[in-house]
Amino acid sequence: MTPDGLPMNVRTAAHRRVLISGASIAGPALAYWLHRSGFAVTVVEKAGALRGGGYPIDIRGTAVEVVRRMGILPRLRDAHIDSRRCTFLNADGSELASLKPSTVAGSVEGQDLEVRRGDLAAILHALVRDDVEFLFDDSIDVLDQSGPGVDVTFRSGRQRTFDVVIGADGMHSHTRESLFGPEDRFHRYLGYCFALFTMPNTFGLSRELLMWNSPGKAAALYAVGDNDELHAFLTFHQPAPPSAALRHPDAQRDLVAEVFADAGWEVPRMVEAMRAADDLFFDTAGQIRMPHWSRGRVALVGDAAYAPSFLTGQGSSLALAGAYLLADALAAHRDHTAAFAAYEHGTRDFVAMNQALVDNGAAALFPTTARALEQRDTRLRGLVTMPAAKARPAHSALTLPEFAPLP
Ligand SMILES: Cc1cc2nc3c(=O)[nH]c(=O)nc-3n(C[C@H](O)[C@H](O)[C@H](O)COP(=O)(O)OP(=O)(O)OC[C@H]3O[C@@H](n4cnc5c(N)ncnc54)[C@H](O)[C@@H]3O)c2cc1C
Repeated sequence: MTPDGLPMNVRTAAHRRVLISGASIAGPALAYWLHRSGFAVTVVEKAGALRGGGYPIDIRGTAVEVVRRMGILPRLRDAHIDSRRCTFLNADGSELASLKPSTVAGSVEGQDLEVRRGDLAAILHALVRDDVEFLFDDSIDVLDQSGPGVDVTFRSGRQRTFDVVIGADGMHSHTRESLFGPEDRFHRYLGYCFALFTMPNTFGLSRELLMWNSPGKAAALYAVGDNDELHAFLTFHQPAPPSAALRHPDAQRDLVAEVFADAGWEVPRMVEAMRAADDLFFDTAGQIRMPHWSRGRVALVGDAAYAPSFLTGQGSSLALAGAYLLADALAAHRDHTAAFAAYEHGTRDFVAMNQALVDNGAAALFPTTARALEQRDTRLRGLVTMPAAKARPAHSALTLPEFAPLP
């Protein structure tokens, strides 16, 4: 039974076959709702196993309602990081302001959640793994829509036919590229690069975030628990994307080290740790903006279709809400064209509002000039004595429809 008391598999008569590419957030969430509606679901993931670990992500507003309807809210509350404070530092490492994390993120204390990305992925996977076929260590090679379904050839050589294929394969989606062309047509570069890695917690930090800034540069250390590992984050302003560095991990390390060469506080230790890290994740901050999210029987969901960038903190929430609305549309409309149109119609305004957060100051934590940094610092000092901030309207701008009624 589903948490809302509805029997699983009631639509077995329909048994439409769906292939989802990507087993992170959007993919398994979509798999859950489609299976619940009687679809036969296969998820293909290029990694050899579920990708664990990872930086903390937020589940806010509308997305909290999605996970409540999935019945996983209690498990996510258990996994909630519940950070105690967020301390901003001046360039010399002295304290500028210490704030409640919700004040900084615009989230609602006691309702919104912050969990490790790997915890969310694991909870979603556990929810569907017995009902959905997972193909790890494989990926889509060729999509052929010339027949009555989608004929898929996998990298492993296996061949299968599906009624519908969904790309939930992230910001650099291969499904999007094979359907719509190169990423640069849809990628909106936001002027920042970032490096993310873990390092030993030799600072004695516990459930807190430290953020150091100088104009155009920021370094953050995030202790998500009381354990001995820290999530380290180095971000910097770069007018044009460093295309060459994006392809070579050594060039990424050199670029970050060069940018932060004269930085104060603990940044030199962080750069040293980055050089040694085996989990470095380097990327540009950017958004995916597309005029349409589907072509024929193939559609996109989550970051693949509308990545909002880490600057908004809304990537996982959009992935969860988008998965819900896409599944609802496919369950309500047997015709995939009508379903994909309904999905876009129901989701696009919510996506646009959240992507627009970067235009409305979501990057304000990372000012690029000395003057803008001074202004930000003044605002942060003012927030110390302010009551808790109100939630950002964009987080809850979507009222979820009741899931498509079962026949
Ligand atoms: C530094 C950083 C900080 C962030 N902070 C936040 C935050 O605070 N709040 C928030 O909500 N979000 C945050 N995000 C964004 C968030 O992680 C994503 O928006 C969210 O995970 C989107 O989920 P997704 O399932 O669409 O894509 P992803 O999580 O990117 O998953 C894509 C999956 O597809 C798989 N895949 C890729 N290519 C293929 C292929 N060819 N075939 C098969 N599988 C493939 C990948 O291995 C992966 O498992 C942050 C992201 C970063 C990088």
